[in-house]
Amino acid sequence: MTTRTEDHAPTAGTVLTGAGVGRRVAVGPVVQVRPAPVVPGDAPVVRDGRPVPADEVPDAVTAAFADVAAALREQAGRATGTVAEVLGATAMMADDPSLKDKVLAEVREGEPAVAALDAAVATFAAMFEQAGGYLAERVTDLRSVRDRVVARLTGTPAPGVPELREPSVVVARDLAPADTAALDLERVLALVTEEGGPTGHTAIIAGQNGIPCVVRTTGATALAEGVDVAVDAAHGTVTVDPAADVREAMAARAAAEEALESDTAPGGTADGHRVQLLANIGTAEDAERLVDAPVEGVGLFRTEVLFLGRQHAPTVDEQTTAYARVLRALGPGRKVVVRTLDAGADKPLAFANLHPEENPALGVRGYRLVRSAPQLLADQLTALARAGEETGTQPWVMAPMIATPAESRAFAEAVRGAGLRTAGVMVEVPAAALRAAAVLDEVDFVSLGTNDLAQYTMAADRLRGELVDLLDAWQPAVLELVAATARGGAAKDKPVGVCGESASDPLMALVLTGLGVTSLSMSPSALPAVRFALRRHTLDQCRAMADAALAAADPAAGRAAVADLLDADARAALGV
Ligand code: PEP
Ligand code: MG
Repeated sequence: MTTRTEDHAPTAGTVLTGAGVGRRVAVGPVVQVRPAPVVPGDAPVVRDGRPVPADEVPDAVTAAFADVAAALREQAGRATGTVAEVLGATAMMADDPSLKDKVLAEVREGEPAVAALDAAVATFAAMFEQAGGYLAERVTDLRSVRDRVVARLTGTPAPGVPELREPSVVVARDLAPADTAALDLERVLALVTEEGGPTGHTAIIAGQNGIPCVVRTTGATALAEGVDVAVDAAHGTVTVDPAADVREAMAARAAAEEALESDTAPGGTADGHRVQLLANIGTAEDAERLVDAPVEGVGLFRTEVLFLGRQHAPTVDEQTTAYARVLRALGPGRKVVVRTLDAGADKPLAFANLHPEENPALGVRGYRLVRSAPQLLADQLTALARAGEETGTQPWVMAPMIATPAESRAFAEAVRGAGLRTAGVMVEVPAAALRAAAVLDEVDFVSLGTNDLAQYTMAADRLRGELVDLLDAWQPAVLELVAATARGGAAKDKPVGVCGESASDPLMALVLTGLGVTSLSMSPSALPAVRFALRRHTLDQCRAMADAALAAADPAAGRAAVADLLDADARAALGV
């Protein structure tokens, strides 16, 4: 094995490393998504192949923005779930007058259109990057709008992903949502990006589709077109032109993964301790894909997907229809945990987050919106109660970003006042974890959002890819807070679930079970491996693993200590 040192194409056996998303593997030929061609700033604006007169250039600019927005909206209309949502948000960016007006002002001053657009995009990109968080992640979308507008203005081909003629590993600097939507996902064996973070769009879309993915892979864009690579998401590695033994190991891992999918029994340990295995969803379409799936219910329905990218909140009727579709899809026998709107910070909404905040992740987000926009919660609870009546299935309803027992009480009163029976809260703030028993005096259940819990415990922005080591849910400090929450649940004999990303890591699932967590909710594609890991170990073994993880000095030591305690067959099948 060699490590990459030069700048030319990495050679056979070279192992590139990045941050893996999920745990699947794939081997296949590289298809590079090349960046848009460089168009000079003074390139002429053309229409029907002929240069546009100077006095008509502003109109051409306006039309180009409108065409790009319309094309993106149309793509969004054909897509579903998260892809549709992110495409809608990119279309809004193309529609946003602030970018277009800045370009038009320069053009009217005599600046060439492409140069004016480049300058405006550079200004906005710098602003977004400085703001950090959600906005920093939108820079890729902004550049994708720029490339599309330039293509329209100059009559050059629109940038896009290459057509895949065979199953391939798609490699890019980063993928904008519009690129991802244009991909034939059936032929995508794996996604590898040089930039992007583990919670960025590429990672989310890969996770939802069960596609192996490695982000932040240094050197990926230098990979030669067509060279075979072995992508191992569990280890965050990309091996160039892998040797026969690596290919065999990957094939064995892929076969084991398939075998895991044949087990459809409810979740539980080898000695029969039950752990509910649930799915995370964002849309009614996601729920409808679960109709015949071996999942015991939904542990997190992120309702904000219905609200994002809009100028006004959806009406009570519209919400009722969407929630009823979800409840109907899961049927009367399966539990559905609906989270009320989690807007703010990385998910800003035009109608909810009215004032810019210096520290939005610490500001009026999640349940705290009840302070400034109480009608949003009231309408949502009304719609959920109506959907429950219509379908005969009562949803469990929980609030995001709860910090205190008093907030929990107020939320539970609102839920019950709306005629709903089961109220819970998310534990994402260390204060709520430390006071879990008092929180559970007020509500029927809690669910740990380990993504935010890690962010707030470690004081590390979850969208900053370079802080991924701090954001690790294996950080012993984060696990201490999970343990405190589980103790609160045991004391009050009430359910304590986990619906953050950590639930989808089979080793972590064992630790969480050992800590006393009663349900695990994850992307459906992650479920078979978690089910398998649980089935191979007793509750006492899980408890020993939890002790080992808590006693470890750091995340790597915790993982290694738990891996040492794994049953040998499980270690082989999980590729540990
Ligand atoms: C979490 O924070 O872990 C969580 C599940 O909520 P979200 O990722 O939607 O913030
Ligand atoms: Mg959260």
